[in-house]
Amino acid sequence: MTTIASIGTPPLSVSDDLFRKIVTKMEDGIIALDSRGIIRYCNPSVEGLFLRPPESLVGQPLDVILPPRYRRNHHRHLSDFGRGPADARYMGSRNSFIVGYRADGTEVNLGATILRMRTENDMVFVAVLRDLTERHGYQRELEQLANTDPLSGLNNRRAFTNLATRHIAHCRETHAPVSIVLFDVDHFKSINDRYGHDVGDTVICEFANLLKSVTQADDLLARWGGEEFILLMPETGLVRSGAIAEMVRRNIQVLEFGQPNGLSLRITVSAGVVCSTDADETLDNMIRRSDHALYAAKEGGRNRVTLAGPREALAALA
Ligand code: GH3
Ligand code: MG
Ligand code: MG
Repeated sequence: MTTIASIGTPPLSVSDDLFRKIVTKMEDGIIALDSRGIIRYCNPSVEGLFLRPPESLVGQPLDVILPPRYRRNHHRHLSDFGRGPADARYMGSRNSFIVGYRADGTEVNLGATILRMRTENDMVFVAVLRDLTERHGYQRELEQLANTDPLSGLNNRRAFTNLATRHIAHCRETHAPVSIVLFDVDHFKSINDRYGHDVGDTVICEFANLLKSVTQADDLLARWGGEEFILLMPETGLVRSGAIAEMVRRNIQVLEFGQPNGLSLRITVSAGVVCSTDADETLDNMIRRSDHALYAAKEGGRNRVTLAGPREALAALA
């Protein structure tokens, strides 16, 4: 008989029978191992996790439910845990989980609470296991939503900022140049005013598609805001990035955007291009310079590409 006490209520006595019922009925899988890693007990829920009847696992080494590539390390982890200071350990986050191996050869991500108990002449390990597939799926979906612009399907500003910082750090390490182009649709407000917001949305999507078609594998493209797009090109100098921006500008002005009434409309874009080889120039500063160049393109009459001057020139203007 075991007693569970909780604050403010009389102690509740829990019989061994009740404990047995909890263990056999609970949704989480429970596996007990001896110190040699031999499975000594499984509850019925284990079958749902590993697609093997629990009785077929008892007496088997733990290896049968671990993917082959994890087996050696797992033995080491178990003996470290056996010798370590803690009696319990939880692994169930996005980065820390156990991979289980099913009877059909597939794998399953499992959250695990691992307990250690000393018996008279051995150590027993108990793992309480939960299938994380659904939770990991939701996490991936949420990450995707948090990083994607819903209209164009491109990266949003948040994703761009995170990824661009890494791209730039990599270029710094290899002393390679990195370029950024900031595009902005000209007089976009008047497109909305004249043709309606839906047509404006279509223009945004079609422009996004055109930009996608010019990007290469390592480039990073994002919707920076309303009708502004940003393209980062690693290992690309100013001559090449300027030429790509110019190609986009030329292609967009001849593209016909369809409207529901059968008419078509044309747009133009302006762009500011910046390139940096400077080891200590930040992403923020590069974007400031490209924004400045974009502003100059607008001031210069729109439908044009302006290359950013050297960093010192912007500093002098500030
Ligand atoms: P400029 O040539 O100087 O860039 O002029 P502009 O009219 O393009 O610039 P402005 O920044 O004044 O206008 C941008 C407009 O874009 C204003 C805003 O209502 C519209 N906009 C922002 N996001 C969206 C969107 O998701 N869909 C649509 N249809 N319009 C949007
Ligand atoms: Mg704008
Ligand atoms: Mg604009």
